[in-house]
Formats: sequence, structure tokens, C-alpha cells
Amino acid sequence: MGLKLMCVVAHPDDECYAFGGALALAADRGVETYVVCLTDGQAATNRGDASSADALGKMRRDEFSASCKVLGVSHHELLDYQDGQLEFVNFSLAAGRLVERIRRYKPDVVITFGGDGGPNTHPDHMMVSMLTTAAFHWAGQAKRYRDAGALFKTKRLYYVTANFHLPDRPPAVPMPWTVNLDIRAVRERKIEAFRQHVSQAPLLEKTKEIFERYGAEEFYTLVAAAEPQAARLTTNLFDGLE
Ligand SMILES: [Zn+2]
Repeated sequence: MGLKLMCVVAHPDDECYAFGGALALAADRGVETYVVCLTDGQAATNRGDASSADALGKMRRDEFSASCKVLGVSHHELLDYQDGQLEFVNFSLAAGRLVERIRRYKPDVVITFGGDGGPNTHPDHMMVSMLTTAAFHWAGQAKRYRDAGALFKTKRLYYVTANFHLPDRPPAVPMPWTVNLDIRAVRERKIEAFRQHVSQAPLLEKTKEIFERYGAEEFYTLVAAAEPQAARLTTNLFDGLE
């Protein structure tokens, strides 16, 4: 059986600008990939030509699909939470929806944001980190969510992190990385995926310099692993699993 990677994000475009390198590299090596996005991004600053929040949400759902296609994502799904409101959701119910998906999909590796919320410290990103962390552990525990499918223990959980601060924002407090991922082979595809988010074109323009400077790598931190071990620096999310 081939390896499976699951990526949990908050907004359409997170999958490409934050995780696009890891997703495209995984696809290239035959790893099946599944991206779950919790909101349709209706609260975005950049709104394209959308006349209403609903219209923007619809547009961003389509952009998310197009971006996932460029990244070679095997399955993608967008849930129905409100953009900007994840800190107010019922934690247990929302984590339960992720538990159900982990048990059904059976990923070897899960990737998501860290507790810092990424370089832009978005509270939705922090909440995705916390919900996914809970779901990662609870999916393998018999006492949790008895009606959400057969238990499944994912082998590894990684948080995405960064080696830079955004120039125009209060600095995040990022996690030290344990994986330095060379994404030069898929760098163009990552940018091409970002271009699918037509409504977010001003964001792509604004972050262009950052990606030119730092875009050859993505950084991840191993935060949970099936085997007890010391943290060590690697260059591959799947080493030892193949
Ligand atoms: Zn986001």
C-alpha cells in the first residue's frame, strides 16, 4: 500500500502558499494526498470582483479546486465553517469531524499549521493547528468518538513553520524546524497553484519578494511520532516510512 498524506488548512490558498511544496513533492513520489480546508475564505481582504460574501466564497471554492489540481492533490474537501470565526466553533464537534476523516482516509502523515498561526499569525491558522492536533491523537483512542469509524493511528504529525518574519506584520514566534524541505523541483508549480487564486492576486503580488527570497524551501516540525525518539533534522517528511 502506498503512503498517504493529509493536510488540514483554514482558507483556500493556505494549501499552496504554506504547504504547496510538500503536497507537490508528495504527489511526484506517488504519495496519495488529501487536503481538508475548514472555511471558504469569505472574510478575505482581497475580494476580486465578488459582489457578496457568498459570491466570494463560491469563487474561492473553485480557486481551491483549481489550485489542488495543479498540486496533484488526490482528494480535496472544503468544510462549511465561517472564515475568521474558528476560535468560536464548538471544539469537540469540529475535532470530531476531523477524527472521522482521519479514520476514514487513514493517512500515514498529517501536516497542518503550528500554534503560532504561521507568519501572519492568523487565529484561524492557530485553531486549525489545535483542532488537527486533537484529532490526530483522538483518532487513535478507543474512548474518543466511538461513532466516528474504526480507530486509526497516524504515524506522524508535522507543523509547518518558517525561516522568516513578514516585513509588515508583528513577528510570529515560530517553532524551530526538524525538516528542511528542498522544494526547488516543484517551486514553479507552487506559484502556479497560487495563481489559481485569482481573487487573491494582490496577495501574490505583495508576497512576491518573500517567495523569491525564501521560496526554495519549506520548513516543518515533527511534533508527534508513533515511535519515541529524539528530534533530529531531516530533509523528508516520509523518511523511514517507505
Ligand atoms: Zn489562511
